Amino acid sequence: MERTEKQRGFDLHTHSVFSDGTTRPSEIAADVAALGLSGFALTDHDTIDGWEEAREAAAMHGIDFLPGIEITTKFAGRSPHLLGYGISPDDEELFDALAVVRRARLTRASKMVDLIKKDFAITWEDVLGSEDARTVGRPHIADALVRAGYFIDRSAVFAELLYPGSPYYIGTLAMDTAEAIRLVREAGGVPVIAHPAANRQSEAIPLADLEALAAAGLWGIELDHPENRAEWIPELRTGSADIGLIPTGSSDFHGAGKPNRLGDFTTPETTVAAIRKMTATPR
Ligand code: AMP
Ligand code: ZN
Ligand code: FE
Ligand code: FE
Repeated sequence: MERTEKQRGFDLHTHSVFSDGTTRPSEIAADVAALGLSGFALTDHDTIDGWEEAREAAAMHGIDFLPGIEITTKFAGRSPHLLGYGISPDDEELFDALAVVRRARLTRASKMVDLIKKDFAITWEDVLGSEDARTVGRPHIADALVRAGYFIDRSAVFAELLYPGSPYYIGTLAMDTAEAIRLVREAGGVPVIAHPAANRQSEAIPLADLEALAAAGLWGIELDHPENRAEWIPELRTGSADIGLIPTGSSDFHGAGKPNRLGDFTTPETTVAAIRKMTATPR
């Protein structure tokens, strides 16, 4: 499909091999350029180690790059994901907290693998796989089980083995969402709540929670996302606008790890310009 100027925009939520995507930041940049989009944000889980490659590749392809991250958090019995754009890579408080989270992820994943090993022939080494991966999670366990031939793809492993409540599931350490918002803001970044109506939840994030998070400094809300349940969106759109949150859109691309396609949803250039105005690392 040919895109007009008006359709140009940013895909503000993508994952690479540095977390649980299956493609490199440079491949994402090339694909974003091929789609005719204006630019993209790389938002790997709990790490920014893919930024450099993404930035260089974006420059080569003549598109814009907005540095980002996705942080797993917890709030009022839910586990909201928080996107942080333009954070300073030198902020010690934020990156110390993220290092603790990544270490906890390793312990948690190895405990899950110990449980799974009793029933499936995989090893910890199979799970660690790519040497680029800075954060280890359920997707890496799923990939090892797919490679070993037990399941057809990542989604099937999640549905049958890795869902919360499964005997193989162990939760992971997460920051409080309001605290993560504070850390992102203090690192000069712009916090946006990810997939607020994700269909794996029993309901969309309550407006009362959004109000509390807005008071803590939340700036935006990812209303356009492939996993948001459509019937929950109208109320959320009106309610979040009343609170003053800015809507964004993105694909949450994970390469072959999820059916989400790059550019499935996008964010207007004007919104990204507003984000850049507020951030510590504009490019
Ligand atoms: P973790 O943080 O280790 O608990 O794993 C969460 C990650 O798994 C998120 O990045 C999701 O994108 C991914 N994920 C969750 N559900 C699925 C699914 N059904 N299929 C593929 N990936 C999933
Ligand atoms: Zn992910
Ligand atoms: Fe997420
Ligand atoms: Fe994501």
